[in-house]
Amino acid sequence: MTDIHRTSNGTSSKSTSKAAKDESLEYKMEIVWGNVLAHCVLHAIALYGLTDVAWKSNVKTLLFATVLVFVGVMGVTAGPHRLWCHRGYSAKLPMRILLAVCSTLAFQNSIFTWARDHRAHHKFTDTNADPHNAKRGFFFSHIGWLMVKKHPDVIKRGGGIDCSDLLNDPVVYYQHKYYYQLSLIITFFLPTYLPHYLWGESIWNAFIMAGITRLILEYHIAWSVNSVAHMWGNRPYDESIDPAENMMVSLFGMGEGWHNYHHVFPFDYRASEFSWKLNPTTQFIDLMHLLGQAYNLKTVPKDLIKARAQKTGNGTMYEQLNRQKVGQVDAENEKGYTYDY
Ligand SMILES: [Zn+2]
Ligand SMILES: [Zn+2]
Repeated sequence: MTDIHRTSNGTSSKSTSKAAKDESLEYKMEIVWGNVLAHCVLHAIALYGLTDVAWKSNVKTLLFATVLVFVGVMGVTAGPHRLWCHRGYSAKLPMRILLAVCSTLAFQNSIFTWARDHRAHHKFTDTNADPHNAKRGFFFSHIGWLMVKKHPDVIKRGGGIDCSDLLNDPVVYYQHKYYYQLSLIITFFLPTYLPHYLWGESIWNAFIMAGITRLILEYHIAWSVNSVAHMWGNRPYDESIDPAENMMVSLFGMGEGWHNYHHVFPFDYRASEFSWKLNPTTQFIDLMHLLGQAYNLKTVPKDLIKARAQKTGNGTMYEQLNRQKVGQVDAENEKGYTYDY
């Protein structure tokens, strides 16, 4: 966590990026044709789903598929991202199992692999050691990085990041160990079988809509955090970095688009300064907190956020907000959530 926390300090983040750039290894891009083919086939199926099968499916199947898109997105944002990678909060076993199931549904690698790659993303943001380096363009940071061999800087520098804490959690350990078996059941079998069993949908329609099309829609939402939110939006907390506050990404990404704040204060469980502003993942964690499942929620003191925004932001921090909302946030921050960094 120490390394990730360093990104909350502008100078450390900049010096890390500079070091990564200076020591960049020789690189010749190598396309992984199997992955290219897999993504082409999956996208062709999704296109077929949206243009043809969707019109022949039971409306319950379409609703089910839509719900699964957001359950998958939420599974990753609340689980591998805010809980396991950034340790923004702690969770009891039932909640960790629930998040493991939901993030397996999202089929974005095991919790361990996801969190490890994401720690590299934060430590080496937008350098060659960042797995989805946005400096290499929109296509690369969105989907291209999944179609080529990793840059040697990712392997060399990413290998030095301490991830030992992750596998100490038996939920992460077993989800990683049995990832493909679990995925077969949770990602593909259940979304196909349940609509057939519950309301008599054909296996074909259920597979195309709730299996594949749902997965591709969820992928594009998740990938937009790495591409769109690293290119477009406001930078009120640190204008020297690429990650930005992007409302559209937050709208579909369950609150993950407040990316300028998140890269400055990655350990804040809200991934935003504001839990009320397009941030369903935070509201879900708050609900679990009320139910006694989530605890040790980490936030950043308001004065520290303001000081940082004044020092490195682009000066727009409170222009977008009305006074009433700011007052509401101040009251919220006085509730006494723990802050232990
Ligand atoms: Zn990012
Ligand atoms: Zn993050």
